[in-house]
Amino acid sequence: MAEELLCEAETETGAAMSWPDDTHEEDADALNGRRRGRPAVLLTLNPAFGRIIAVSLRMNLIETLIADFSGSGLAQSRLALATRALDVGALCDLVIAQIDAMLDATATPRHRLLGIGIALQGIVNADTGRHLWSPALSVTDVDLAKPMRQAFGVEVVMANDAVAVALSLAAAEPALAQGLSATIMVGHGVGMGVVVDGEARWGAGAGSEIGHVKLAPDGPQCRCGQRGCIEAYLADYALYRDARTFLDLPPAASQQPSEAQMALLRERALGGDPRLEHLFRQAGRALAEAVAATISVLRPHHVILAGPGLQAFDMMRRAYEERLDQAVLPWLLKSTAIHVRPSESATIVDGMVRRTLRVVDQNQMETTE
Ligand SMILES: [Zn+2]
Repeated sequence: MAEELLCEAETETGAAMSWPDDTHEEDADALNGRRRGRPAVLLTLNPAFGRIIAVSLRMNLIETLIADFSGSGLAQSRLALATRALDVGALCDLVIAQIDAMLDATATPRHRLLGIGIALQGIVNADTGRHLWSPALSVTDVDLAKPMRQAFGVEVVMANDAVAVALSLAAAEPALAQGLSATIMVGHGVGMGVVVDGEARWGAGAGSEIGHVKLAPDGPQCRCGQRGCIEAYLADYALYRDARTFLDLPPAASQQPSEAQMALLRERALGGDPRLEHLFRQAGRALAEAVAATISVLRPHHVILAGPGLQAFDMMRRAYEERLDQAVLPWLLKSTAIHVRPSESATIVDGMVRRTLRVVDQNQMETTE
């Protein structure tokens, strides 16, 4: 088994796979930009040992990526649909169908699938594999892991999607992963993944709901059902919703703006509309409150501000910096390094591949001991 798992570095660059008709890989070039894989070592992991599938389930989108055993992406798909309209059965059937489609697209025999990682927007119990609550779903306390295990007979790993982003960024920039790192992800929501020395081994599933810390008891409506949450000022849906009250912008499906719609909003904001500047100042202050709470409670070595929402950081920066100086004790602020990394949403599936590989590796080690 060990010989099959490991191979010499030179064989990794060869195209040879252990099954013959594996040339039907869609979109391989488009993935090259993030084919980072695992760090190079003298003996490398044999990419052909098996494959991993990562799924990101979030508001109105199911994104699926299949990767080889070195962690490099081979094919991916994005399915846009009204996720809140799904019941538990329909949700499980859809995820199973997406995984089957990835196996078919890459001619991967089922016995070569070694693990499935599912990153969810919302509260996850990583130990039981239950998805407790998500703004993307109308059903609660869903056991997604068990039906996947039954359908494919492999390890199923669950995580909050901010944890997956944290793992992806830690792998891309190991200096940010030394010690305790808190990654605040801003995009379709506001979440946090906590990583210790590059691993998700902190607390209950390494995720945290910083986005639902309250800034004002009677503040704007949040997607969680409560009011005045950090997310209700800072997430992309909140900014887009508030901008539509005074600007002519196309409606967002289920109030979730697309990436193109958010790009349009940023473009409009650059035009100097004072009402939009006000919205981004509010968002900057909410981001500062999230950072201040994180630093005060956790005292991490690193805070990483990530996610597509950080593409608008320049518009938030001044209000963010002014508020941060008032919101956290200066001695604490000096002891944490803050990094801005406006990552793409693809980091979610990339990080989930890593998390799943880690669990599969551990299980392989245990079974060979
Ligand atoms: Zn909330």
